[in-house]
Amino acid sequence: MKWNSIETFFLDMDGTILDLAYDNYFWHQHIPSVYAKYNNITFKKAKLILEKEYKKKQGSIQWYCLEYWSKKTNINLSTELLKTKNKIKVFPGAIDFLQSLKRKNIKIILLTNCPREMLNVKITQCKLWGYFDKIISSEDYEFAKETDEFWKILEEKIFFNKNKTVFIDDNQDVLRYSYRNGIKNLVSINFPDSNEEKKSISKFLSIDSISLFNPEIIK
Ligand SMILES: [Mg+2]
Repeated sequence: MKWNSIETFFLDMDGTILDLAYDNYFWHQHIPSVYAKYNNITFKKAKLILEKEYKKKQGSIQWYCLEYWSKKTNINLSTELLKTKNKIKVFPGAIDFLQSLKRKNIKIILLTNCPREMLNVKITQCKLWGYFDKIISSEDYEFAKETDEFWKILEEKIFFNKNKTVFIDDNQDVLRYSYRNGIKNLVSINFPDSNEEKKSISKFLSIDSISLFNPEIIK
């Protein structure tokens, strides 16, 4: 693929533009530790309870919903989000990459499972307002990106040429659904969380970070 044959970029946020280390910290460390304190139980026990609940909702829209988990845990997650927002980090080189797409007049559409409230905090914290032609949270469509419904609604709502669209997302389930729905120029991320080892990705093309994207890797 050549740069001039790309009209649109669909970009995931967490794990693609922003370091997934924050989300992993927030859901798997911070919230269990607050839950442990409020319920007077050990961190280990709190983590066990929450991980079990998270698992039940994985891939569903509730999994990403602050309000759902606030009710479930009796913890005000909006407050916890604000308390921890300093840990939200944009990947090195990501902003330069967005700027380079803009210079090439490529349309940039953020497609995220992050709910609006959290998205607003993250985009503000990382000063990312202004880089996207459109921001779509799966919360708007009431279906997570890892569903056929999400991609059907997206096609109804926005115009894009599938052959001239590139989609980068660290979630291989999401990529599978977008592929099923006709988007074939897909790229995954090897290091979505800077604290974790390289992911093994065999079904999709993958790069270490979005700043290393080069259209020539796509046939
Ligand atoms: Mg992601």
